[in-house]
Amino acid sequence: MELSPRVTAITPSSTLAITAKAKELKAEGHDVIGLGAGEPDFNTPDHIIKAASRSMEEGHTKYTPAGGMAELKEAVARKFKTDQGLSYGPGEIIVTNGAKHALSLLFQTILKEGEEVIIPAPYWVSYPEQVKIAGGEPVILNASESNDFKLTPEQLEAAVSKNTKAIVINSPGNPTGIMYSSEELRAIGEVCLKHNLLIVSDEIYEKLIYKNAEHTSIASLSEQLKAQTIIINGVSKSHSMTGWRIGYAAGNKKIIKAMTTLASHTTSNPAVMAQYGTIAAYNGSSEPVEKMRTAFEDRLERGFEAVSAIPGFSCVKPQGAFYLFPNVKKAVEQSPYQTTDEWVAALLEQEKVAVVPGSGFGAPDNIRLSYATDFDQFSEAVRRIRAFAENNN
Ligand code: PLP
Repeated sequence: MELSPRVTAITPSSTLAITAKAKELKAEGHDVIGLGAGEPDFNTPDHIIKAASRSMEEGHTKYTPAGGMAELKEAVARKFKTDQGLSYGPGEIIVTNGAKHALSLLFQTILKEGEEVIIPAPYWVSYPEQVKIAGGEPVILNASESNDFKLTPEQLEAAVSKNTKAIVINSPGNPTGIMYSSEELRAIGEVCLKHNLLIVSDEIYEKLIYKNAEHTSIASLSEQLKAQTIIINGVSKSHSMTGWRIGYAAGNKKIIKAMTTLASHTTSNPAVMAQYGTIAAYNGSSEPVEKMRTAFEDRLERGFEAVSAIPGFSCVKPQGAFYLFPNVKKAVEQSPYQTTDEWVAALLEQEKVAVVPGSGFGAPDNIRLSYATDFDQFSEAVRRIRAFAENNN
């Protein structure tokens, strides 16, 4: 049977092959260390679990409004006000099944066939595929490593065409962990306003930032930019709630309303108990979040030095998220392997360390290592990667 071109045009996640191979080796009894994880290694804080559990015992097990419960939207609106000084009414917020769902609804809502979305590379793997599924054209702009993986306003200006509809800004970014400053966002924002581009601001790693870095939402820079921006966020990373599947989008009423209609005919509401858990996440103590952030900060400080010191590696220092994204071009060139993908496969085969090749993120000279893992394990993995690099040059 012939499948729809909408799905045949998309590529499977690049992380899947390596994850499958790592699992296979583990099942054979090998001591595999996985640095591929895109989720915190902490449990969801206890008060969140208790609140969700209590909600079920109290009988809250039925449909809610498709775009999320009013009480949760209020909690999200309060969070926006407190953390970023942004005011959103309930009609300007939709709660979704994870941030990924919010992005997917958004692209399907805004894109006409063939309209372009500018995506700076390195990018999170799902952006281009989601744009394609929605009938749009991803336009990938290489944010160079020498500019700390940040897109410049000049690059953006040069790439805008009559078909450009939107741009994705992901700060702190996956896979690089880099963050845009207010000034950089303002300059990019000016180009967006000039060409009437919708700004998709993915702020899912907002809470995981280190060493006095300050997070700025582009929407907070002016009323004009706020009107032109849809913020994407959620609790998956901030509260270690990846499996709960709660994210949200905030911005223009008309867009949010259309996204909600789309959700009402596809998924209906996100799981009600997860919504109750998220209310507790935002209304309860932020201490567990801070504890996790501090642990990541410590790991980053120690892990960054060790990874940067591996022969043939160079690494831009991240300010947020929980990944290192070293450039390994030299290490690969000095090895018998032709590509980073092959080098990564051999690393897994020989040293039993799973990392993610940068090809899936639009950066084929890099690899992604997650430090959302026990630090002793991480250090052992770095020792093995170093041994691999030294033995293969
Ligand atoms: N945006 C970015 C940049 C991510 O890294 C991820 C998850 O890996 C998501 C969105 C999706 O988050 P969620 O698990 O809430 O769907």
